[in-house]
Amino acid sequence: MITEKVTKEIYKSMGISQEVYEYGNAIAEKLQERFRQIDSMAEYNQMKVLKAMRKNQVSEACLLGTTGYGYNDLGRDTLEAVYADVFHTEDALVRPQITCGTHALALALMSNLRPGDELLSPVGKPYDTLEEVIGIRPSKGSLAEYGVTYRQVDLLEDGSFDYESIRKCIRSKTRLVTIQRSKGYQTRPTLSVERIGELIAFVKSLKPDIICMVDNCYGEFVEEKEPSDVGADMVVGSLIKNPGGGLAPIGGYIAGKKACVENAAFRLTSPGLGKEVGASLGILKDFYQGLFLAPTVTAGALKGAVFAANIYEKLGYDVVPDGSESRHDIIQAVTFGQPEGVVAFCRGIQSAAPVDSHVTPEPWDMPGYDAKVIMAAGAFVSGSSIELSADGPIKPPYAVYFQGGLTWYHAKFGILKSLQSMVDEGLVDKSSLCSSLCSC
Ligand SMILES: *Cc1c(COP(=O)(O)O)cnc(C)c1O
Repeated sequence: MITEKVTKEIYKSMGISQEVYEYGNAIAEKLQERFRQIDSMAEYNQMKVLKAMRKNQVSEACLLGTTGYGYNDLGRDTLEAVYADVFHTEDALVRPQITCGTHALALALMSNLRPGDELLSPVGKPYDTLEEVIGIRPSKGSLAEYGVTYRQVDLLEDGSFDYESIRKCIRSKTRLVTIQRSKGYQTRPTLSVERIGELIAFVKSLKPDIICMVDNCYGEFVEEKEPSDVGADMVVGSLIKNPGGGLAPIGGYIAGKKACVENAAFRLTSPGLGKEVGASLGILKDFYQGLFLAPTVTAGALKGAVFAANIYEKLGYDVVPDGSESRHDIIQAVTFGQPEGVVAFCRGIQSAAPVDSHVTPEPWDMPGYDAKVIMAAGAFVSGSSIELSADGPIKPPYAVYFQGGLTWYHAKFGILKSLQSMVDEGLVDKSSLCSSLCSC
C-alpha cells in the first residue's frame, strides 16, 4: 500500500502545491459514486467490444496489413465487421484513408445525397468545418455546388426540438437529416442517445425513407447505447477521438445500413471498387487495440471532465455541463470571463503533457477564426483530442473547451496543473480553495 505522504510528495515534485493537491483530493473524494457509475459503463462497453471481437474471430493474421490494392485484406474486412457488431449495424467502413472526422462526415453526406436532394439539420448549426462541406460558407466542391440544398431548424430557447418547424421543413426533396450528438464548441446541451431516438422517430413518422445520420464525434462509449441503437441509419466519427482509444494514428468510421455504407465506399474509392480496395498498410493492430481500449479510455476522459466541472464550479466559474449533470460526451467547457484565465488554464494543461510539456502555448491568429485562439496539446498522436487537450478563443465569454485524457490519473494531473497555474498567476486565491470546500 502506498502512503498518502509518498503520493503527495511526487505531486509536489511536479509543481502541485499542498493546497491544490488537497482541494483536488477533497473534490475527487466526493465523486466516488459518480466514478463508480462511469466504471460500470466502461465494464459494459468493454464486454460489448470484446463480444464483437470474439464473434468475428479476430486472429493474429488480422493484425497484419496489406499493400497495393489491398484485395482480400482480412484484417480490414474483419475490423469492419467488428465495428458493425459494436454499433449493431448492417455494415461499416473503417479506414485509414478517411483522414479525419470532417472527412468521414463529408463522405457520408456526399455519397448519400444526389443533385436536387435537400439536407436538413434539425438541431441547429452543425460543427464549424461542416459549414464548408455543406456550403453554408461557400467553398469549392461543397454540396451546394453539386445542387444539394440545405435547411436548418434551430433548437428552441430551452434546448428542446422545434417539432413544429421541423414538420414544416420536411418535404419530398428532403433526403437526409443530420444530427450532431455533441454540442461541439457551442453552448447548447449535448444530445443524449435517448433524445436522438425521439427525434429520429419523429422525422421517420413524417417521411419514413429519410436517411438519419448522426455525427457521433466524442460520444462513443459514453452511454450504453449508440445512436444506431435508436434508429440512426448512419453513425459517423473520428478514430483520433473516442473509438481509436488513443492508439489509432488516423482514420474515421461510418457504421450503418448496408446501402448507406456501400454508397460511402463507392465514393471513398471508386464506383465499382467500393470496399474491395484500400490497403490497410501496417496500422490495423492499432485500430483493433485502440477499439479494445476505447471504453476504459473514454471512462478516464469522462472522469476528468466531471472532476474539472466540480473543481471549477466550486470556485464560482460557469461550467457546462455542470458538476452533477448526466454526460453524453467527453467535452467540458469552463468560462473564466477574462483572457488571463483562458491562457493560464491552457498553459497548465500543456505543462502536464507527456509530450511537449516544456513548451508554452501562446494565443495566435488561426485561419478561419475571428479571434486569437490558444491551444494546449501534448499528444502522442498529433491533434488527437481523446488525449488531454484544451483550446480557448480569446474573446468573450473567455471560455475554454477541454477534453480527453488517456487515463484518469493524467486527466486529474492536467486539471490540477491548470488550477495551479491559475493560483500562480494570482487568478485564484489560495485561501478560496479551502473556504470553497468548507462551504459545501
Ligand atoms: C471533432 C468533430 C468533428 C470532426 O472534426 P475533425 O477535426 O475533422 O476530426 C465533427 N463534429 C464534431 C461534433 C466534432 O467534435
